[in-house]
Amino acid sequence: MQGLMMDYQLTLDAVLRRAETFFGSKEIVTRLPDRSIHRYTYTDMVRRTRQLALALADLGVQPGDRVATLAWNHHQHLEAYFGIPIMGAVLHTLNLRLPAEDLVYIVNHANDRVLLVDQVLLPLVERIRSNSHIEHVIVIGADGAAPEGMRSYEQFIEGYDADTFVQSALDEEQAAAMCYSSGTTGRPKGAVYSHRALVLHSFASAMADTLGVRERDTVLPVVPMFHVNAWGLPFTSTMVGAKQVMPGPFLDPASLLELYQQERVTITAGVPTIWLGLLQMLDKDPTAWDLSSLRVLLVGGQAAPKSMIQGFRDRHGLEVVHAWGMTETSPLGSVAVLSSEMDNLSVAEQDVFRATQGRPAAFVEIRARGEEGLLPWDGASMGELEVRGPWVAAHYYNNPDAEESFTEDGWFRTGDIVTINSAGYIQIQDRAKDVVKSGGEWISSVALENALMGHPAVAEAAVFAVPDPRWLERPMAVVVLREGASVEPEALREYLSGEFPRWWLPDRVEFIEAIPRTSTGKFQKSVLREQYGGASAS
Ligand code: AMP
Repeated sequence: MQGLMMDYQLTLDAVLRRAETFFGSKEIVTRLPDRSIHRYTYTDMVRRTRQLALALADLGVQPGDRVATLAWNHHQHLEAYFGIPIMGAVLHTLNLRLPAEDLVYIVNHANDRVLLVDQVLLPLVERIRSNSHIEHVIVIGADGAAPEGMRSYEQFIEGYDADTFVQSALDEEQAAAMCYSSGTTGRPKGAVYSHRALVLHSFASAMADTLGVRERDTVLPVVPMFHVNAWGLPFTSTMVGAKQVMPGPFLDPASLLELYQQERVTITAGVPTIWLGLLQMLDKDPTAWDLSSLRVLLVGGQAAPKSMIQGFRDRHGLEVVHAWGMTETSPLGSVAVLSSEMDNLSVAEQDVFRATQGRPAAFVEIRARGEEGLLPWDGASMGELEVRGPWVAAHYYNNPDAEESFTEDGWFRTGDIVTINSAGYIQIQDRAKDVVKSGGEWISSVALENALMGHPAVAEAAVFAVPDPRWLERPMAVVVLREGASVEPEALREYLSGEFPRWWLPDRVEFIEAIPRTSTGKFQKSVLREQYGGASAS
């Protein structure tokens, strides 16, 4: 027997209509490139979004065409987030931190026809456009003065009457957006998000036991809108009607702290690097900002050191919530929210769970696979995490060579090496390619570097494998010291020996100025391996 419910398509135009109907007077705030603050409401946002959709259609953009953005977090980017998908086209967010040659590859692979770009990023466009099939460049922030052969965004949309926009019926399975993974191995690969995936992802993100985004929240995504849709927060916030605050290009701690205070931000989200910088600033001057509105700092993209989570809470009364996800998982996978069964644990015991990657969101299923098959959830067996769910990629865009990323029974192979405990909490031990294989045994570089970052003299630390004649690989650490601090390598090894067996301890510890990072802010261990790979362990 069939259910007798409506065949209602889960598409982004319904999210927009909801915002228009119920949250019209709520604010969206942007810090513009000249540092001034721009404010408008959802009513304005919906109107301009429809104007954009009409303008794109007039330009000849067809359903399914890719429209790229190369832009920071701001209200016009939010208009693109909805305006492109509601007219049936595909929003393709480009990572402005990638080298031009990667961008050319991505733009050509996706076959982007139109590009919306921030004026401040135009120098990058010059290096991409001539090698691509981009037909139209629309410049955001040019205020009527776009360079020759390009158009200003404001002029592009201004002549259109939003009331004439007629929403065509969209299929929930059609593509709404796409994003290329940062490609730490091989060429970048495209994840293509359907309307349905983004709508369900918004529901899941809003749940109290995941990110818990509500109408009364004020959300500031530090995570860029070009990095997995700013973790879906612009979609989720619009669905629930939260006030949105966009930091523009200013992601330094002082600019963020100022916005948190001024706009009474309740939820903010970003990678650990952002929070480590913020924590150092707060430690220097703990009373300079009123952060009483801040409810949650979401952290993900790289493992959050336990010491950082504790530092925010113990020294500044701020809660850090740790989440795991990937470009291929839209990105919400799991969130380290404590369950009621943990209420009786000591704070120190609870902190162990807070620093894990947490339990999966509803409908995200997980399992770990070792060389011999699926692994028990015993908190000790290490294997590759596999996931499936309604917002997890089933294929990469136009990339038959990448099918080995998917198992025969349709799960996505994440490339993350994990343990899963009996309560289903995931602990990422490494990327598959970063795990240190010493004498056939695995050493978690992530566990070592997070422990090192708990030492008072250490600002940041990365651990990676260097070749070893006897064990094939051994761990080595590079450490960035806190300003004015000093420590001997042996003291750091000693510090680690409280927590890890001796054979886990890095054979070599070097002090460096800065850890090389990828375009999405992760430690770039390939560079470290190359740099130190030839050197003998001492
Ligand atoms: P990306 O697709 O650029 O978002 O990168 C996804 C990868 O980032 C994952 O496969 C993990 O290796 C890593 N990652 C994301 N979140 C976390 C986290 N909370 N802890 C550790 N690694 C993470």
